[in-house]
Amino acid sequence: MERIYIRDLRHSMDNSEAELNGWIQEVRKLKKISFLILRDSTGTVQVTLKPENIPDIDFITGVNRESVISVRGTVTKEGVAKSGIEVVAKSVKILNQAGTPLPLGITDPVEADFDTRLNNRFLDLRKPDKHLIFRVESSLLWGIRKFLMSNDFIEVHTPKIVAAATEGGADLFRVQYFEKNAYLNQSPQLYKEILISGGIDRVFEVGPAFRAEEHNTVRHLNEFTSVDIEMAFSDHNDAMKMLENAVRSGIQEVVDKNNESLELHGIHLKVPDVPFPRITYRDCISILEKEGQSVAFGEDFTPEQLREIGKKFPDFYFITEWPSSVRPFYTMPKPGDDEVTNSYDLQFGEKEITSGAQRVHDPELLEKRFRQKGLDPSAFEFYIKAFKYGMPPHAGWGLGLERLSMIILNLPNIREVTLFPRDRTRIVP
Ligand code: ATP
Ligand code: MN
Repeated sequence: MERIYIRDLRHSMDNSEAELNGWIQEVRKLKKISFLILRDSTGTVQVTLKPENIPDIDFITGVNRESVISVRGTVTKEGVAKSGIEVVAKSVKILNQAGTPLPLGITDPVEADFDTRLNNRFLDLRKPDKHLIFRVESSLLWGIRKFLMSNDFIEVHTPKIVAAATEGGADLFRVQYFEKNAYLNQSPQLYKEILISGGIDRVFEVGPAFRAEEHNTVRHLNEFTSVDIEMAFSDHNDAMKMLENAVRSGIQEVVDKNNESLELHGIHLKVPDVPFPRITYRDCISILEKEGQSVAFGEDFTPEQLREIGKKFPDFYFITEWPSSVRPFYTMPKPGDDEVTNSYDLQFGEKEITSGAQRVHDPELLEKRFRQKGLDPSAFEFYIKAFKYGMPPHAGWGLGLERLSMIILNLPNIREVTLFPRDRTRIVP
């Protein structure tokens, strides 16, 4: 007998036999017959137990909720269940019994506090709305991957244990690497660029990035998933187009794969139109000044300032031409206007999702930029070397996958879209 998912039960299967596997969500005992609410990863269904079919009915209805079972039975259309379908069991096998009491309820109307949920993540994920988050994230990434693959990118994997700090110094986790000091990588930036010199032309990587940021916020993790691209013979405008279309394709895939479940949970997703609006950093300053704020050129916007700008742009938009002072050494200055760079952030309202830029490809300019940033180029020999023997012009970006998931699902905390979040106080589970 074939295993079938609850989602796939249909009226047309009336009277056919099916095997369903899952968890006992609820038991209802009546005088003679009893009912189980069986839940699998796709939904719930009512299973009817009749003593003439199930001799050990008392044992079955006595096991604890959340025990794992396998049911074989007949799909029945005229069931009393709300969906109009139930399964009349021919046999029920208890595969594994759950203990009691449950550290976290699956169907409790009042949600437990977040720490309790995360401490018992395996139970938290059995709730359909929590489970859906990670289906959405998976579709989102699949849509982005498909888009990049169809645009001649290849997926690569670069080291996460590294000798040099990508962004230079701060926020690094140190690891003992035999007799040497090493670090967990903050970003694949340097390695992506070396691959451009390696003639691969278009690369992308989906992998963990580690940041030893001390602060606990609702949009920072100490380990997050970075979706990174780098493309040769391209500038920041090419990379921005690639980004808005990748985001669009990701959301399209989410809608195509999950719309029914999303609607069921009251989430109405709209695939965004491209191109996204573009405004410069200097335009943002003008917006803020009109609101009566004075902003010093050359500094990052504060969260309050981004909130103000976000009121004008509640959807996806780019802030371009950031000052050199707030961008890393590898960022290309804007020709003829050295104070700013060929860089951009993708924003959604007040929230940053992606940073990107055209990169410096001239080794002399690169060494100059290192010194301007107060960094010692000799620690980056392995990287600068790749620029000296034929490095194409190139551009790229790094997108925080959790940030994008959080935004499209309109969730208040990045930990909601992270299976096992790492933050200032949490490394377990
Ligand atoms: P922020 O200013 O929001 O702290 P950042 O500018 O320091 O971010 P980047 O170095 O530009 O971050 O990283 C690229 C992208 O990676 C960001 O736009 C964001 O989506 C994501 N990201 C960066 N740091 C974190 C973090 N600590 N937790 C989750 N996502 C992050
Ligand atoms: Mn950034």
